[in-house]
Order: sequence, then C-alpha cells, then structure tokens
Amino acid sequence: MTFEELGLHASVLKALTESGYTKPTGVQEQAIPAALAGRDLLVSSQTGSGKTAAFMLPALHKFASAEPVAEEGRTPNQNSQSARARGERPRFKAAQPKMLVLTPTRELALQVTTATDKYGSFMRRIRAVSILGGMPYPKQMQLLAKNPEILVATPGRLIDHMDSGKIDFSQLEILVLDEADRMLDMGFIEDIEKIVAATPENRQTMLFSATLDGVVGNMAKRITRDPAVIQI
Ligand code: AMP
Repeated sequence: MTFEELGLHASVLKALTESGYTKPTGVQEQAIPAALAGRDLLVSSQTGSGKTAAFMLPALHKFASAEPVAEEGRTPNQNSQSARARGERPRFKAAQPKMLVLTPTRELALQVTTATDKYGSFMRRIRAVSILGGMPYPKQMQLLAKNPEILVATPGRLIDHMDSGKIDFSQLEILVLDEADRMLDMGFIEDIEKIVAATPENRQTMLFSATLDGVVGNMAKRITRDPAVIQI
C-alpha cells in the first residue's frame, strides 16, 4: 500500500515525499481510508505508531480539496478594514477553527503542531496554532486573532479562551482526542465534555488512546457516531 493508493491530495503527497515517508504505517493504512470516507474513528495505538499522520493527513486532504483556486481565501477579521474606513473601532471576531486536536500535555501539542506544519507545508493556507497552559495570554490572543484553521490545545487553557469568547466552534468540522486515556487519567473529563458540547453535532470525531476499555470506551460511545474501530 502507498500513500498515492490511499488517494491523498497532491499537496499532501508532496509533503510526505519531502518528509522521506515511503509508505503508510499500519495505523495509517487502516485509519486514513475510514477518515477520508468521513467516518468517526476509535483507534487504539501507541506513541511512535504514526498516529499523528493518521488523523492529520485525512484532515489536510479535506482542507486542501476545499481550497479555492484563486487567491481569495478567508482573511482574518474581514470586517476590520471597512470598519476602520468608517472610522469605527474594528470589531473583535472570535477564531472559528475547522479542526481541534486535544492533547494531554504541552509537549504532545507542540509535536502535533510541528507535524501539521510539515504535512501542510505545500498547502496554500493552513495555519496550526498551539493553545497551551503556561504560555502568555497576549501571545495566544495574537495567534487566535489570525483565525487559524487548526487549533492544537490542552483542555484547561482552551476552556479559559472559550469562556472569554475568543473561540467559536460553530464552524468546527473535525475533532481529535489524542491520547484520550491520558487526558482522562489527568482529570480532564469535565473539560473535555464541556469542549465537545460546544462543537457541532455533525463534526467528524477521531479518538486515539492506548486503551479503548472502561472510562475511555464510555466517553467514546457518547461522543462518536458509528465509529470505525481500529486496534493496532
Ligand atoms: P507518532 O506516532 O505520530 O508520534 O509518529 C512517530 C514518528 O514516526 C514521527 O517521528 C513521525 O514523523 C514518523 N512517521 C509517521 N508516519 C511515518 C511514515 N509513514 N513513514 C515514516 N515515518 C513516519
């Protein structure tokens, strides 16, 4: 099996060639076709299995396929120029991400963001931003003001920004819970429930976890619809 055979967008394939990836890993071979078909996913897989690409490549494929051909993509704060021209203060607009990846730790969030930049490097406009505890708020507000397509976040800090109206999930298409078992072990269940409740019901949900039993399995049942279950 090759990445071409999985049917990924040309710009994604180019980034994979640049990265020196010659073929998909086991989890990628199983997860990518189901994700491209729009299915929810429940995946049990370990760090090092290539799980980041398993959820990020189909997401980037979707965004690349939807990119307009002309140079007329979304611009952040579209109203601000005309408001300024009218002598008004630019109106604050909440970020409207298309994809959210929740991770248990800052380190994992940064890894996912770096991988996203790499896999998306041949796309015309795709911005991934990390929203992490411990990072200064003004810096994060600047990043959110650019209206990034992809947010990679730890749950606690994300809730802070949601509560202050900086993020609007009404346009969210894809939700990923990475290392869901660790997030639950760390006591994030209420935060996760709150975040999930703020996203549209027709989103695509992909949950990755070392185990799919017990508490994780229960949560997975509540937040996914007819998921493809993949055990590596
Ligand atoms: P992950 O499990 O997502 O943390 O990925 C583990 C490592 O495998 C990362 O360094 C990735 O860059 C690398 N990787 C992911 N997919 C592939 C692939 N298909 N071929 C070669 N390396 C890969």
